[in-house]
Amino acid sequence: MSEGRSDIVVMKFGGTSVAGAAEVKRAARRIVAAREAGSRVVAVLSARGKTTDELVAQALEISERPDSREMDMLLSTGERISCALCAMAIHDMGHKAISLTGSQAGIVTDSSHTRARIIDVRADRIRDKLGEDRIVLVAGFQGVSTESRDVTTLGRGGSDTTAVALAAALGASVCEIYTDVAGVFSADPRIVPGARKLAMASYEEMLEMSASGAKVLQLRSVEYARNHGVRIHCRSSFEDGPGTLVVAEEEAKKETVEQPFVTAVTHSDGEARVTLTGVRDEPGVAGQIFTALAEAGVNVDVIIQNEPVGGNELADLSFTVDRSDLTTATETIAGLGGVSKGVRTDERIGKVSIVGAGMRSHPGVAAKVFEVLGGEGINIEMISTSPIKISCVISAGRVPDAVQALHRAFDLGANAVRPEDPTGAAHRPTVSG
Ligand code: ADP
Ligand code: ASP
Ligand code: MG
Repeated sequence: MSEGRSDIVVMKFGGTSVAGAAEVKRAARRIVAAREAGSRVVAVLSARGKTTDELVAQALEISERPDSREMDMLLSTGERISCALCAMAIHDMGHKAISLTGSQAGIVTDSSHTRARIIDVRADRIRDKLGEDRIVLVAGFQGVSTESRDVTTLGRGGSDTTAVALAAALGASVCEIYTDVAGVFSADPRIVPGARKLAMASYEEMLEMSASGAKVLQLRSVEYARNHGVRIHCRSSFEDGPGTLVVAEEEAKKETVEQPFVTAVTHSDGEARVTLTGVRDEPGVAGQIFTALAEAGVNVDVIIQNEPVGGNELADLSFTVDRSDLTTATETIAGLGGVSKGVRTDERIGKVSIVGAGMRSHPGVAAKVFEVLGGEGINIEMISTSPIKISCVISAGRVPDAVQALHRAFDLGANAVRPEDPTGAAHRPTVSG
């Protein structure tokens, strides 16, 4: 799909971008400006500000383990509020708009509440409304399961995925993700103020970045974009100018004479570690444990198993999971009845990763990462790698130091001279919200 082929654009505004009345009106003005410039516009909105966090907190005040169907009924209201308000603002600007829930917009999902996957987009109603010269506002982060006929939500950050799925279904020229930073940076600009805005990132790099904690784009939205060839333009709601294009590797490469071997440092502080001590060292045990976790819907990230030493036939096995899955993980292990002698959990872990497509052809990157962290006195507790990523589990409190040290050591800053930015002109990140 190439820019300019279609006159439809999908514009997604995140929570900070619709937080107060002024922000909703600002988003409405941007949407109207795109319409007046000749595009047909579908806008996907997130819940305002911290609304989703507040709704989660309300549920937890009522129930320790809220029913997941009712959780989706609750959480899906946030984005509906944003859309209705924005439609009002657009009407006042003299344009026709209509707000739709995810279900009304034809977002069909499976029935796994609070983490549903989009399985179909039936966009006829959106097409009809665009045909009537309306701007269509779609509540992000939600859909409907045709199996259960219930409202579902797509997991935190899921409005990005709504936007990309609609862009794919409508053949939009681009999916614009408007957020509170000016694009995708070489590190979270809240931790590294001198981080560099990337002009482009390949789907593969962005997948690794999102998977390792760069929440600027939800992982599933990048997967969906790669699978359907949707161009993402991630940019600021609060200032003009280009952000970051997330595109196929061939296109990203064309723009750069020589690829820097490391593109970004990412981090995550939302994980927890489970350690099983005294696991029977025999075939099938790991399969049993991880099958049970998968069946319980727990995503496992880094895994380490030590071979038993001293011939006692018992191994230690550690893995990390999203912190919100920790209770489910420990209950699942307990349900297996004695696969290990003990279970320990640690919620104070963090993870720092470096990502770069150019790492494939540059040996020695891992060694440098370990040296840098060692030089900072940061202990590496677990390691995992992919061809274009190295991740280290470290203590949560040291994450900012680790991110800053790696960013410095690999010279990723705004003032570094890059092939796609030969002047070295600094794109200072704008951080708002
Ligand atoms: P929205 O509400 O618009 O969806 P998010 O909070 O989900 O916004 O994502 C934007 C945030 O992602 C930024 O405010 C920033 O702190 C964080 N972030 C983490 N890593 C990166 C990165 N590498 N580049 C840009 N932003 C990042
Ligand atoms: N409002 C939801 C969240 O906070 C979805 C989103 O913003 O993308 O996770
Ligand atoms: Mg987000």
